[in-house]
Amino acid sequence: MNQEEIIEILTGTGAVQKGHFVLSSGLHSDTYYQCAKVFEHPGLTEKLGDEIARFWEGRQIDAVISPAVGGLILGFSVALAMGARFIFAERENEKMKLRRGFKIDQDERILVVEDVITTGGSVREVIEIIRENKGHVVGLSCLLNRGDKKEMAGVQVHSLVSASEKIYKPEECPLEKQGLPLVSPGSRRL
Ligand SMILES: [Zn+2]
Repeated sequence: MNQEEIIEILTGTGAVQKGHFVLSSGLHSDTYYQCAKVFEHPGLTEKLGDEIARFWEGRQIDAVISPAVGGLILGFSVALAMGARFIFAERENEKMKLRRGFKIDQDERILVVEDVITTGGSVREVIEIIRENKGHVVGLSCLLNRGDKKEMAGVQVHSLVSASEKIYKPEECPLEKQGLPLVSPGSRRL
């Protein structure tokens, strides 16, 4: 699948919505992303997982790790396609941790999978966990890269889609003039 085909899947499932949105930052955007909408469809999610697995083909990967909650479904799907183990990190007292008896062995080769990367805070913490446990970070894959990052904490970043939304200050927003109703993500209309 190329990026256009993947964007088609995301648009078709409502994971990418076009319109007039106010972000939590207060800025306005012509695009809203809700990746969970594509994960509603296991068959499509499986295709995305296969696509990520194909990118890393030929590299030894023992385990896939995702930060909870957003990355879990895609991460699982990638691990399934690779025949790798799947574990996840989750927040406890605001810090990402391995819980539930999950362990990373020394020199274990690990791929990090996340749904959306914006600033990459969660994935950086996950990379840190792998390194603290003396595992080897093979790379990082995400469905959607909003920061156009090619590298993070010395790790190669692979994205199925690079985001291309337009962001405006409310007072400069041209969407206003086009008469598009302003929608707050979470689909609560203002
Ligand atoms: Zn606006």
